[in-house]
Amino acid sequence: METLLLGLFYIFSLYAFIPGLISRLFGFRVFKKGIAEHEISLTFDDGPDPVYTPQLLDLLKRYNAKATFFVVGSSAEKHPELIKRIYEEGHLLGIHNYKHKTNWLMRPKTVTKHIEMTAKVIKEATGQDAHYYRPPWGIVNLFDYTKQRNNLQLVLWSAIFKDWRVNVGADRLTQKMLKKLRGGEVFLLHDCGTTFGANPTAPHEMLTALERVLDEAERRGIRSITIQDMIQHTAQAKNEAIAALQQPGSSQPQAVRKGGSSVPVLPWYKRLIVSLWLLWEKVFHVMFHLQTTDNPDPMFHFRKIKYSGAPIELTTGDTLVKGDSVLELHFDNKKLFQLGSKAKSSVQLAIQLVRMTEKALPELAEYIQNHPDLREAKALYGITMINRGPEQFGFSITDLPKGLFATSTTFYLKLLMSVIHPNGRERVKAHQEQMVPKILVIPTQTLISRFSQQGGTVQGSKRKPVTAAAKSEEELDGKNDAELKASLPV
Ligand SMILES: [Zn+2]
Repeated sequence: METLLLGLFYIFSLYAFIPGLISRLFGFRVFKKGIAEHEISLTFDDGPDPVYTPQLLDLLKRYNAKATFFVVGSSAEKHPELIKRIYEEGHLLGIHNYKHKTNWLMRPKTVTKHIEMTAKVIKEATGQDAHYYRPPWGIVNLFDYTKQRNNLQLVLWSAIFKDWRVNVGADRLTQKMLKKLRGGEVFLLHDCGTTFGANPTAPHEMLTALERVLDEAERRGIRSITIQDMIQHTAQAKNEAIAALQQPGSSQPQAVRKGGSSVPVLPWYKRLIVSLWLLWEKVFHVMFHLQTTDNPDPMFHFRKIKYSGAPIELTTGDTLVKGDSVLELHFDNKKLFQLGSKAKSSVQLAIQLVRMTEKALPELAEYIQNHPDLREAKALYGITMINRGPEQFGFSITDLPKGLFATSTTFYLKLLMSVIHPNGRERVKAHQEQMVPKILVIPTQTLISRFSQQGGTVQGSKRKPVTAAAKSEEELDGKNDAELKASLPV
């Protein structure tokens, strides 16, 4: 059962990586949410509609709100005058396929045709090329990321309200929208109710709600801008944040977004991967009952399990065999990620990890010393990519037995490395052959006698000084970079 769960852990972790992988392989970008203080983007899908689109345009004009319309090509073809009006009133036109069909059920070639046909209709009505694309239901397929679509910006949304259902009603819709009324949000609304799954008169409710929301927005000094402007605004805000970071005296990573998020400035796909991964890690910690010391910001998490691998010889001369109690160590991935994203080089990252480990091990030793149930574990073990360095802390290093576990672990750790590491993917590529996960083991007794004050006195043995701190950065810098490879969690 444990193995099965662990297997699932890997599979889900990999699954979470897929969007990031795709983005890297194909280099596409999806825009979902902006960074802005007083601007939102209203976007309208499925139109134009001869009844509701003109009403909507009137309303937007009254509030001087600029919106983005993702139009269905076949409807646009029937109402070129509406397309022209949308454009002339300063709104942005985007593509929502020629017919409202999902890309999952269409061949890539057909999707391309849909896009081209819709782009043509827009061009004929406005003289402008369309550069923004929102696939129906926001469902993209792999091929949407290929080169053919490179001239198109994929746009999704950050706020959705089920406004296509008439039974949501204007009142509830107003409440829902007001809740999301804050800078940077991309609202998804519909100015046509004739698509599959929608109610024909739903846009009427939407218009009632939108009027109230625009009223409130005006009161709060919030205005709607087109997606194009929001993207520009966002890029500018990011640049400003980066510039602020580079100013002397500000070494702390800062969040671009307000609200003090601890995720530093990163490309969106990395942020996506990291947040999925950190979320998954939370689930993993709960599922496997991972514990920590009393430190509110711990570096290590651990759990007591029965050892089930091949026998490992310990530095005490003892052997770790199947059935022995062990403490399985996990790095705190969030911490690791924060370190990795701050570090300017592999060497710096390695140094920081060594220093953190120096601080964390005595704490861990103390904690284990004070918990008899943990103290009875024979050893502590973990799987990481460190291949030099941990010996100084008293760990012995063993190869991971060949097999599916080793292969999947290697793959997983490589992916993590490419996200965490300052040089990311290039580094993984450059050190392909050295990226081998190893088992690190330290006997519990060794940990306690070496690192715990208490343990040292009880044993009557002198506590060995930790030597790593003495190592200067220059000394570490001189080492082969690969030797100082950052460690990664299981
Ligand atoms: Zn749609």
